[in-house]
This record gives sequence, structure tokens and C-alpha cells, in this order.
Amino acid sequence: MSLLEVHDLKVSFDTSDGVVKAVRGVSFSVDRGQTLGIVGESGSGKSVSTQTLLGLTAGARIEGRALFEGQDLLTMSDEQLRRIRGKEIAMIFQDPLSSLHPLYKVGRQIVEMIRQHEPEVTKAQARKRAVELLGMVGIPQPDQRVDDFPHQFSGGMRQRAMIAMALALNPKLIVADEPTTALDATVQAQILDLMLRLQREFDSALIMITHDLGVIADLADDVLVMYGGKPVEFADRRTLYYRPHHPYTKGLLESIPGSSGAKDRLKPIPGQPPSLINPPTGCTFHPRCAYIMDRCVTDEPQLRPVLDGDGGTDPNHRSACWLPVEAVGLKPEAEELRR
Ligand code: SF4
Ligand code: MG
Repeated sequence: MSLLEVHDLKVSFDTSDGVVKAVRGVSFSVDRGQTLGIVGESGSGKSVSTQTLLGLTAGARIEGRALFEGQDLLTMSDEQLRRIRGKEIAMIFQDPLSSLHPLYKVGRQIVEMIRQHEPEVTKAQARKRAVELLGMVGIPQPDQRVDDFPHQFSGGMRQRAMIAMALALNPKLIVADEPTTALDATVQAQILDLMLRLQREFDSALIMITHDLGVIADLADDVLVMYGGKPVEFADRRTLYYRPHHPYTKGLLESIPGSSGAKDRLKPIPGQPPSLINPPTGCTFHPRCAYIMDRCVTDEPQLRPVLDGDGGTDPNHRSACWLPVEAVGLKPEAEELRR
């Protein structure tokens, strides 16, 4: 059994416009020492999927199971979840100020986090730990900066401080939701390096949520691609980058800045993300797909194994697309695929 196993998770919200089906059946798992990337545009359900696990989607209708060390997070009481949140499972968000209170010193916030979950730790011990952690995430002169307020830190330093806070209790699982999106490219690369190094050092499981496949190119072991609340492709990182099957994954790959030396021919995926209230029939991606066939409009494809390079199926590479599973790497210009 994996550290976290999510089975057929469905999340919807009632709104005045109708039922928003934010997540429509997603499964994934992650183990200690492993990184899972979850990729998709905004509205793909990638954030909602993980927030739901931590009880952070108030008012949602939830189905499925999410076993953390064998216990279902989705049926836990608020009290049980509160104990797990921060201690066993930590979250890192895009905006550090959503976790760091602007009016309290950075060190004090880390100290309080530690003591809230481990009351036996003294203030002095917790402060020592906070200084160590700030040093570990690359804050210069951590013994002095520990008494700074968040606004005295740069954006990159705040992100580092939030990572320090997330690591303070040595969590088994870290969920990072667009942790570097607000930062410039150099700082982004440094923070990602840091996260990878610390994840290995702490042997935690990491779920990295991003809209940018490039962010997890060097980081993830496995990658799950989501579109319109559904999983559309799953593979190990190498396979996903070199032999993507789903046209949406290919579109994401082509829209990575600097991909295949194509910086100036960056190709965004045409069209808009689907409505989550009235999603398209058949394949959710069909209104935007260059490979569309008749059945794509009526029949909904489910994840199925894709052929590997040697012609055998690779059970770990799955795609929800009606294209032949041999069609790996074909371009839309392959007219014979269109009917
Ligand atoms: Fe495109 Fe059809 Fe595949 Fe959907 S099922 S991604 S519309 S080819
Ligand atoms: Mg999000």
C-alpha cells in the first residue's frame, strides 16, 4: 500500500448557475521519497483534488476514497484532519502570505506551528529548530532573520520560509500548489532545486501541482495530466515527455517556454477551458482537439494502457483518448487519423 492512495475522487459544488463538477473521477498514489506532478490549466481540478484531501473544500460534495496510511481522509472528523494537517501532510501555496501571517515574526510563526503539534517541545528548542530550518532553506543569517517580519523578506525568501514551515514537523507528505508561479525564472529554479533536495533529505512524498509541465520536468517521478476535472494521461516523467499520447499533453509540451528550442514559436493551445457545469459530450477536450474524430463527440474515452516503444503495452502509461494507442508521436498533419 502506498502512503497516499486516492481512488475515483469526485468533487462537485452547488452554485446558483448549476452544479460545478470540479473533479470527475481521478485516482493517483504517491509514496515516501517519490514526487508526483499533477499538471493542468486552471479549472482542470488539480488544486481541488488535493485541497479536498485536507478538508479545505468547504461545501463540496465528495465521493471516492483517499487512503493516507490506510485511513480514509475523506471520512475523518475535522479534529482528526486538523491533527494530520501540518504535522503529517503539509501544504505549500503559491502565495506565501496565505500561510505566513503578516503581523507576526517569521520565526515565531514556525515556533508556534511546532508547539501546536508538539506541545512537549520548549520555546527555546522550537526557536533553535526554526533557525536551523531557515538556514536549511537558504535564508542568509538565519539566527537574525528569524526575528524578521514577512514583509522584510523578498518574495523568494518568503517562499523559502514557507517551505521551512512546511518541513518543520517532518511531514510524510508535502503538497505544493504552484509554489513558484509568482517568482521570476531564476528564483523559481532555485526554489525547485531546494524542494527536490529537501524532499530527498526528509524522504517525504511530494505532490507538485502546476500548470507548467516545464516546472516538473526535472522533478517528478510520475506525472498526471488533468483536463476539465478528469485525468487524461498518466506516465513516468520520461515517457510523458518523450512519448506523450494525449493531444492535450502534447499541447502542454509545445507551450513550455523554450521547449525544443522553440522559444519564439511558443504554441498556446487554442480555445478555452471547458465549462465544468456543462462539460462537452464525449471527450472533454474535443472542442479544442486537432485530431478530433466522430466518436470523440459522443463516446467518453477512459484511461487505457498505451503501447511502449517495443510494441508492448506499458501498464504505467495510460491515456484517455480514442487515438490508436500506437499513434504515439504523430502530428495532427497525419491526415489518415482524421475522418
Ligand atoms: Fe482528441 Fe478524440 Fe483524443 Fe479527445 S479522444 S483527445 S478529441 S482525438
Ligand atoms: Mg489552482
